[in-house]
Amino acid sequence: NCSTNYLQHFCFYENSMNDKSIEEQYVVNNMKEALENDQFIIYLQPKYDLRTNTIDGAEALVRWNNPEQGLISPNVFIPIFEHNGFIVNLDFYIWDQVCKLLRRWLDEGRPIYPISVNISRVDLFNPKLVDTICALVNKYNLSPKLLQLELTESAYTSNPQLIKKRMASLREKGFTILMDDFGTGYSSLNMLKDIIVDILKIDMRFLSDCEIPGRGENILGSIVRMAKWLDLLVIVEGVETAEQVNFLRSIGCEYVQGYYFSKPISIGDFETLIAKKSTFIPPPPDTNQTIS
Ligand code: C2E
Ligand code: MG
Ligand code: MG
Ligand code: MG
Repeated sequence: NCSTNYLQHFCFYENSMNDKSIEEQYVVNNMKEALENDQFIIYLQPKYDLRTNTIDGAEALVRWNNPEQGLISPNVFIPIFEHNGFIVNLDFYIWDQVCKLLRRWLDEGRPIYPISVNISRVDLFNPKLVDTICALVNKYNLSPKLLQLELTESAYTSNPQLIKKRMASLREKGFTILMDDFGTGYSSLNMLKDIIVDILKIDMRFLSDCEIPGRGENILGSIVRMAKWLDLLVIVEGVETAEQVNFLRSIGCEYVQGYYFSKPISIGDFETLIAKKSTFIPPPPDTNQTIS
């Protein structure tokens, strides 16, 4: 039957080809209301200092607490918001919430740790970006050292001059700048020649999916050595195993962040974690490693 065939064909097309745009349409239709109704929430992922084995800060990662769908990952909506510009509103809201949280911790006399926030490459086009961020820390009477700023390396590729300018002014104001996703773009080393940052945030991709055994580790070791020559600190993100921790310790990496230590958790859970003043127990030395 011809009409049934047509219908099947049509349904197949709808389901497979248009899923993406249906999802996108949903995100776009609901984003403003979601922001007004506080549906965007902050999760915190602890960062650990491998030298002291203790928590040294956290990264703020947004989730959409959607009444119909539950927690939605930023990987679903951030690219859409970067495309339509809404990311500027969302990021401002997140930075404000993080400053508010830091102020509350100070007022309540809790232990205080710097929190890093993500800055989209789209935010860099905002000529008021630096003023906006300064106004926020002033509003909550915070030291700029408490609000760390993560800028993704790929932003450099699209507009090196602009990112250079923004980073320099933000550093001048006393903010700590992290170069997020370092090593995954096309311009990593070239960029370091022109840009001053404080911390290189290295993607764990170097330790996984490596076709030539040992290659990723060697590259990572070289990056850490280079960072020391350039007076930069290093944090490796996406650390999942004790072996990786041992290796990172052996090459002198200062900070780590990853599921091995903790997934991103709610603010309440993070407060419980730091109240315990827990020290991370270092894993036993890797006995499988052969002496070379
Ligand atoms: P990112 O800034 O590079 O954040 C690290 C991502 O890696 C996070 O994913 C985190 O949950 C995940 N991760 C951490 N440890 C591990 C691990 O051990 N294993 C694995 N497999 N993953 C790990 P998440 O939270 O889904 O965020 C994804 C990306 O979305 C972020 O990458 C960042 O680029 C963006 N993003 C998140 N929140 C914001 C925000 O408030 N503003 C902006 N502009 N972007 C954000
Ligand atoms: Mg980040
Ligand atoms: Mg990253
Ligand atoms: Mg990333």
